[in-house]
Parts: sequence; C-alpha cells; structure tokens
Amino acid sequence: MISRAWGPNSLSGLAADAHTEFYRIVAPLAGAGLRRDESLRRYASFRIGGTADFLLIPPSVEAISLAFSTAKQLGIPITRLGGGTNLLISDAGVRGLVVRLGRAFDYREWERPEGHEVSVRTGAASSLGRFVSEAVELGWGGIEFAAGIPGTVGGGALMNAGAFGGELSSTIIGAEGVTLDGDVVGLSRSQLDFSYRRLELDVDVMITSVSFSLRRAPVVRLKGVVESVQAKRKRKQPSGYPNAGSIFKNPPGNFAGKLIEQAGLRGTVVGNAQISPDHANFIVNLGGAKAADVRALMQIVQDGVWQKCGIWLEPEVKLVGEWNEASAVPS
Ligand SMILES: Cc1cc2nc3c(=O)[nH]c(=O)nc-3n(C[C@H](O)[C@H](O)[C@H](O)COP(=O)(O)OP(=O)(O)OC[C@H]3O[C@@H](n4cnc5c(N)ncnc54)[C@H](O)[C@@H]3O)c2cc1C
Repeated sequence: MISRAWGPNSLSGLAADAHTEFYRIVAPLAGAGLRRDESLRRYASFRIGGTADFLLIPPSVEAISLAFSTAKQLGIPITRLGGGTNLLISDAGVRGLVVRLGRAFDYREWERPEGHEVSVRTGAASSLGRFVSEAVELGWGGIEFAAGIPGTVGGGALMNAGAFGGELSSTIIGAEGVTLDGDVVGLSRSQLDFSYRRLELDVDVMITSVSFSLRRAPVVRLKGVVESVQAKRKRKQPSGYPNAGSIFKNPPGNFAGKLIEQAGLRGTVVGNAQISPDHANFIVNLGGAKAADVRALMQIVQDGVWQKCGIWLEPEVKLVGEWNEASAVPS
C-alpha cells in the first residue's frame, strides 16, 4: 500500500507517489545515507531551517548519479548543500531531495609531491580549513589566505571563497562532479568561470572533487601567514552566536559593512536575529531565530542602504528552500 500521508508537509497524491518510488529505487544503494523528513537546522551554521523531504548523504558517486537521474525522472527538485556556512534555509524547509556530501568525499590525493609544484585532488566534503592546515604543514603554499574560512572544499569552490586578497580560483585547476541529470563529468579549468564569490558552469553539477595546484614554500612563512589571517579574523568577526559569515557581497570599491553602519542599522533586531553590533555585515542568531527574522533584517538592510547611500546590496548568502517571495534564489 502506498502511504500518501507521511511527512509534515501535506503532499499531493502525485508527489507522495513520486517520493515513495524515489525511496524504493534509491534506498538500496544509498543505505542509511537516505533519510526522510530530516531537520536541516544542524546542517547550517546559522542553526536555522525546516526539514527536507529527503536528505541524502551519499556513500558513492554512483549513489548521487542514481538519485539525480531518478529525481529527474520523477520530477523531484534537487538542492545541494556543502557545510551550510553560507546558507539561509527557510523555516518551511526544502521540498524534494537535499544532497550533502559526507565522509566518502573527505579525502586528499597528492600527486608527484617531490617537485616544486603539486596537484592535489580533494574530496568536495573535505573541510577547507583542514585542507589548508594539511597543505601548510607539508610546505605547500597558495591557499594559506583561506585559513579560517569555514565550510567544505566543494562549497568553497562554488562560492569562489576568498579573504585578504586571495580567492580559491587562483589555485583551482579542475573539478569533478555529477550533473543534475546523473552524468558523471570532469571539468577542466577553462570550463570553470570564476568571478567574485561565484562559479558559473555551463551545466549544474554537484561537485564531488576539486583539484588544486600548489607551490613549494617554507613552512615557517606559511604558518606566519595563517597566524596573521587568523588574528585579523578574530579581531573583525563576531563570535559566540551562530551566523553565516558576510550576508551581503561588497559592492565594487566599497564595503557592505560600512554602508550598513552608515545607514544606522548596526545592532537592529528582528525576532531573535540581530545585525551584529561587532560587524554590521553579519547577522547573528541570538537563539531560536527564524529564517523569517533573518530575511526581514536583510530586507531592512537593502532598503535602508538604498535610501541612505543609493546602493542596492546583493546577498552573498544563498536562500535555500521555500520562500513566499520572488527574490529567493534556490541553489
Ligand atoms: C564565521 C564565518 C566566516 C566566513 N568567512 C568567509 C570568508 O572570509 N570568505 C568567504 O569567501 N566566505 C566566508 N564565509 C562564508 C562561507 O564559509 C563560504 O562561502 C564557504 O566557502 C561556503 O562553503 P560551504 O561548504 O559551507 O557551502 P554551503 O554554504 O553549504 O553552500 C554554498 C553554495 O554552494 C553550493 N554548494 C555547496 N557544496 C556544493 C557542491 N559540492 N557542489 C555544488 N554546489 C555546492 C550550495 O548549493 C550553495 O549554493 C564565512 C562564513 C562564516 C560562518
């Protein structure tokens, strides 16, 4: 018998049938990695968000491929998560399939490490911070500026994460992934179109690995850079409350935080969310904040900065899930 009623969200009969069929096909390969009605709050650094109809933590590339091709066939939408450190997940949660890479995609493969340059193929679920530490300890330079950027290597590539003048794109030489149709693909550097906090691809993929080219450098110098960027981070960024880093991109030649301060919005509170008194481009969850609180603050900031400075701030943070507005951008 097909159950049409599971889950907190009242599914139409058709959607419920599609979900049952999806589970029947994908569960044997995905095993315990396929979960239904999973709260996403713990997968986001904001500690905010509703449930996903399905959360897949895939054991293999084959499991992703099967899940994507099946989802496509059944009309089930797909959402990709990394470490969840640059996301705001809606209170209503995410319909369809959410995929988040886990342990099976946490690896580093160093190639020809004896010369002055090395290529390293890095699983997309690897912690970016751990990858940086490992490279620094081994005396490989090029990504030390990224020390302290939270999240995964895959999310970092997709966001072209950067800090203190460096961007991941400067060291990335290729990637591998699975298209939303389920095809496994390799992407050369020329297919990766990076710009400020953005990677554009001809086809949407779940990135499964990223390859970097790093250069030999003295460990002492690399450790010095790491210490200095970590100290700057400590001084500049609020600590103590869950957040998702910078909420808005810096407009050309300006700083979002400075503009938000000029608009007099530092410290503004909606519900249980606040524009950080320490750094105005951060919104913090004071405890039990709703995604709607954060979204309302974002709109207050955009309107306030527009009125005061004539600049429309573009969100850096990605809105994920169901929103009652046209501006939400599914990823
Ligand atoms: C305290 C704090 C400090 C921060 N400082 C910085 C900073 O200095 N510089 C900076 O650039 N960012 C910073 N960030 C933001 C964030 O850490 C980065 O953008 C990070 O690279 C996001 O990685 P993630 O794995 O968490 O991605 P997520 O937040 O999970 O996802 C971000 C986007 O990437 C997509 N995505 C994630 N993984 C994959 C994948 N494998 N395949 C395809 N798409 C994927 C998601 O769909 C989403 O659109 C900070 C965040 C916090 C909380």
